[in-house]
Amino acid sequence: MPHVVLLAGGVGGAKLAHGFAQLLPAGKLTIIVNTGDDFQHLGLQICPDLDTVTYTLAGLANPDTGWGRTGESWRTLDEVARLGGPGWFRLGDLDLATHLTRTHLLANGHTLTAATQQLCQQLDIIHTILPMSNSPAPTLIDSDEGLLPFQTWFVARQWQPAVRRVCLPAEVQATPQVLKALEKADLVVIAPSNPFVSIDPILNVYPIRAMVVDLPQVVVAVSPIIGGQAVKGPAAKMMAEMGLPVSAAAVADYYNDLIDVFVYDAQDRETFQTDERPALCTDTWMTTPAQRRRLAEAILSYTMELTNQ
Ligand code: GDP
Repeated sequence: MPHVVLLAGGVGGAKLAHGFAQLLPAGKLTIIVNTGDDFQHLGLQICPDLDTVTYTLAGLANPDTGWGRTGESWRTLDEVARLGGPGWFRLGDLDLATHLTRTHLLANGHTLTAATQQLCQQLDIIHTILPMSNSPAPTLIDSDEGLLPFQTWFVARQWQPAVRRVCLPAEVQATPQVLKALEKADLVVIAPSNPFVSIDPILNVYPIRAMVVDLPQVVVAVSPIIGGQAVKGPAAKMMAEMGLPVSAAAVADYYNDLIDVFVYDAQDRETFQTDERPALCTDTWMTTPAQRRRLAEAILSYTMELTNQ
């Protein structure tokens, strides 16, 4: 079995992580997760993408929202709002236990990597989930309403302010665990996550982009754009606002020399034309566990055939 390293944001990243997790044994799947969306709220350290991936692999994710836990209740946050505290960022009672534990571990000197490892162990996750960095790496959105912290733009303003540019911090370092995973990867997969606010923040962490470009192994990206639309979230809107065509082909062009293989949806079969690089056209909708597994299988068999030629 190859060792697969997946670069992932929240929703799209977690779904493909779940696909690979159904196929690969422990030790063969590492998910490097965006922490550019992380922020401090109510005194707690919130890591939305790490939690979406963790809850998904633990079978606890809420499939309707794409964030938070299933079977959630809201008593604490409703009371916070009643007391005049901030209620705009929804944190369920069970979800709060994650943020409390993580914040406690960080306050006691654990790294974010170690805190994530503990949470995964306690939730019986056998695969490795790594934050891209142990240091804060906040993404800012330069919008037509000025420079906004990511969660202000994404949640409070519901990603409505038009995006001029995504601003990523300089000099954020990858963790030793991230470097080791990339070094021993047989296959690197860029999940169908938002290229600008989920994948770019990971690639921006030194030296991840350079490592991915230089890797002798195959690097595959999966399109988050299907039929000219994002399955969920602001990816398509952002592409239009930043002057890019809204298509799977534009995502492939955006990743350009980072990738060896591009995976796009069967819906785009007629319109997607490329001889730039090998491309796999397949069903990339990942609503059910079986669809996720099938896509992961298709990626593995396509790339294995390619490298055996
Ligand atoms: P976020 O951090 O929660 O926004 O999550 P991601 O960046 O990982 O995922 C958002 C992206 O995932 C969006 O651009 C969606 O179009 C894409 N996405 C979500 N579900 C699917 C799916 O089932 N298939 C594909 N191909 N893309 C998906």
